[in-house]
Amino acid sequence: MRILYVSTEATPFVKTGGLADVIGALPYTVAKKGHETAIMMPYYKSIRDKWRYEVKYLTSTIVTVGWRKQYAGILYLKHKGVDVYFIDNEFYFGSDNVYGYGEYEAERTAFFNRAVLESLKLLDVQFDILHLNDWPTAMISLLLKEQYKNKHNGLYDNIKTIFTIHNLKYQGIFDASVLSDLFGLSMDYMTTDKLEFFGRVNFMKAGLIYSDKITTVSNTYKDEIRNPFFGENLDGVINTRSADLYGIVNGLDINEYNPKTDKNIYVNYGLSDIDKKKENKKNLQRELNLDLNENAPILAMITRLVPQKGLDLVKRVFDDMMSFNIQFVILGTGEEQYESFFENAHARYCGKVAALLKFDEQMARKIYAGADMFLMPSLYEPCGISQLIAMRYGTIPIVRAVGGLCDTVTQYDSQNDTGNGYLFRNYNAHEMAHTVYLACQAYKGRTKWQKLMKRAMKTDCSWDKAATQYINLYEIAMR
Ligand code: ADP
Repeated sequence: MRILYVSTEATPFVKTGGLADVIGALPYTVAKKGHETAIMMPYYKSIRDKWRYEVKYLTSTIVTVGWRKQYAGILYLKHKGVDVYFIDNEFYFGSDNVYGYGEYEAERTAFFNRAVLESLKLLDVQFDILHLNDWPTAMISLLLKEQYKNKHNGLYDNIKTIFTIHNLKYQGIFDASVLSDLFGLSMDYMTTDKLEFFGRVNFMKAGLIYSDKITTVSNTYKDEIRNPFFGENLDGVINTRSADLYGIVNGLDINEYNPKTDKNIYVNYGLSDIDKKKENKKNLQRELNLDLNENAPILAMITRLVPQKGLDLVKRVFDDMMSFNIQFVILGTGEEQYESFFENAHARYCGKVAALLKFDEQMARKIYAGADMFLMPSLYEPCGISQLIAMRYGTIPIVRAVGGLCDTVTQYDSQNDTGNGYLFRNYNAHEMAHTVYLACQAYKGRTKWQKLMKRAMKTDCSWDKAATQYINLYEIAMR
């Protein structure tokens, strides 16, 4: 099969979150299993700055965005056996940020979506599957079905679409005028069974309604979003598509995230020389001006600072947790209320708290390697990749039993020596603090803790299984 992955981010080119990790791994694993895979994404300024000498100009076309005619360059790079196509337009993608353009985001998205479909006329490959990811690609399903199929000499007729929900919270909701202004679509689409959403247009709905198959990035999240609490007002629509809804839990790029070979960390280590992880802890403490105390467990968080990540619980019981003689390290950017809280905590707990308010891939790796425990008390979590990375580096996850966290972390049982982390059920600060306390107690029993670390490191979270499940789904879609 020939599969084109359409995304707004992918490692190693650009990353803001877990979606980039998925697109940086899944197409490569599917290719290894004998299929032809390609990625298509915007050519952001940050990509141009870093990759321009490797990327080649392929061709260009003019794309219609409502009444506008816009240039779209198609650039190309063969990356680890996978074809990567970049859509180039200085006006839309020439600035630094990937997201955060408010209403203007609709026009960037309309351009990108149209450019993806138009570029298919110009490439030598005839794709069987368009694998779309999150709301910025969702309108492609609608455009394909309503404006491209049964035209263009049948070029588009056999293409099937898979739409993956990486996070239902972000939906792309805009004024109704964008339909005609940006897509040339009539107001017939402004009905509840189509794109209408509380008087506005919801791009995510296009993916949910017009795609052939829908997936979520974990099995538990698939079931959760069919209920109002997790459904973000789309549970009704999702339930109408339940027959085409599949949950496939994300894997992890285990070559990229490997403490034995990772050049970003202080000292490499693996299962056979796990003691060297301590060197990473010592170096991390030194770099972050924390007390050089081997006995104080380092509890880390690496996250976007948004309510989804359970930061309100952390704020609520922060002082209680610090009384367990831990050191706390947080790396993240986001909402001001959280940034100032952690900045303040940093000042209050000299030598015990480090708050790094930035996005820094190398520092992230150093923390995964140097910390003892990794906290993820999410309110909801479509899959979560950070807990997988933490386990791979022998850092024990403490997570809320929700979404993909349930599907990837199993409760530690000290009696039977089973499990790879800690889970707590309710969205309750004291329940979380108690679980951290239990982990701190267990941390004192070094032999058992080391066994737990080894089990976490051995957890099979490679992409292999997920890739096979996606391939099966592509085959079902094509039938
Ligand atoms: P989400 O996609 O909701 O942000 P995930 O756990 O799926 O959450 O993925 C987050 C990814 O982004 C992980 O690879 C994590 O290490 C990385 N990450 C998050 N914040 C930062 C940061 N400030 N610096 C570096 N990496 C970060």
